[in-house]
Amino acid sequence: MLPASFMDERTTVRFDFESTSMTKSPSTEALTRPSSTIPTEIFLRYLLPVIFVHVIALLAVMPMFFSWTGLIACIVGIHVFGQAITMGYHRLLTHRSFHVPRWFEWTLVTLALCCLQDSPARWVATHRMHHAHSDEGEDPHSPLVAFLWGHMGWLFLRNHDLTHVSSYSRYARDTLQDPFYFWLERNPVAPIYFYFGQCIPYFALPMCLSWLFGASVTDAALFATSVTLWGVFVRTVLVWHITWSVNSLTHLFGYRSHETGENSRNNWLVALIAAGEGWHNNHHQDPSSCTVQHRWWEFDLTYWEVRGLQCLGIVSDITPRREVRVRRAVEARSSEAIAQTTAKQQS
Ligand SMILES: [Zn+2]
Ligand SMILES: [Zn+2]
Repeated sequence: MLPASFMDERTTVRFDFESTSMTKSPSTEALTRPSSTIPTEIFLRYLLPVIFVHVIALLAVMPMFFSWTGLIACIVGIHVFGQAITMGYHRLLTHRSFHVPRWFEWTLVTLALCCLQDSPARWVATHRMHHAHSDEGEDPHSPLVAFLWGHMGWLFLRNHDLTHVSSYSRYARDTLQDPFYFWLERNPVAPIYFYFGQCIPYFALPMCLSWLFGASVTDAALFATSVTLWGVFVRTVLVWHITWSVNSLTHLFGYRSHETGENSRNNWLVALIAAGEGWHNNHHQDPSSCTVQHRWWEFDLTYWEVRGLQCLGIVSDITPRREVRVRRAVEARSSEAIAQTTAKQQS
């Protein structure tokens, strides 16, 4: 039973990105692993599933497991499930750059759990820690340690900074106010059930449809296996590497539009495959903003999808870029001052 305070409260605590984004000196020199990681402490809970899913996904190269339906399921899934990470975990839960009803937020999080990329609170805490210490010693996944470390190596060593309760308290307190996310943290095996649970519809649906349309049981099972392999396991591997590329490539390769005090870059290739996330230097310059599109050609697909959801009435309170926020604050203050002066004159 959860404490009552977890049952009704909407998230109200915001992490202060404004105070972390612009105050550090540039850091582009090679780093060492965070001191909170120890080489002998392998995080098997992450390492074994990553190896397992990669090995299963490799089966998809066998001609008997190829189907066009499976390939289409994979391509569509990369975007749908990838957006659960980008739009859901990153821009919604971590940066709170827009607001959605709880049913929609939980839908995104459920899809994100099907990507096997951490629980919501741990993902949020890790990413906020990255913003707070980008390319410094405490950054959980800086590629300035080594490319492979920033890409995926950091996942496989236990990082005491990420598991300590004080990290959750500092970086993900608002996330844990949600009963669903709190429950997931109390049941660390639950994300694994969500992940493998998706295999049931991915297998059962094509199996039944294929069989109903007259295929033999063997052919139907082969077809269903193909859809599951491509739609779940190949898609998972590709979404993993796309997400990890944001951590690795965009802190090494690309151009910089802003002096942000770390080594973030704008990388068009990552922007293309990660629905806009590759404009990472723009993101570090203004993490609270929903859009990372600072020039007309720096297309941010995720932002425009959020705007589309706003037109449908699902999204509200989109956080604009810093200059717009500043202008609005100045306008609000001057209107307030005018109102006070008028009130004084009338009294
Ligand atoms: Zn970054
Ligand atoms: Zn971010």
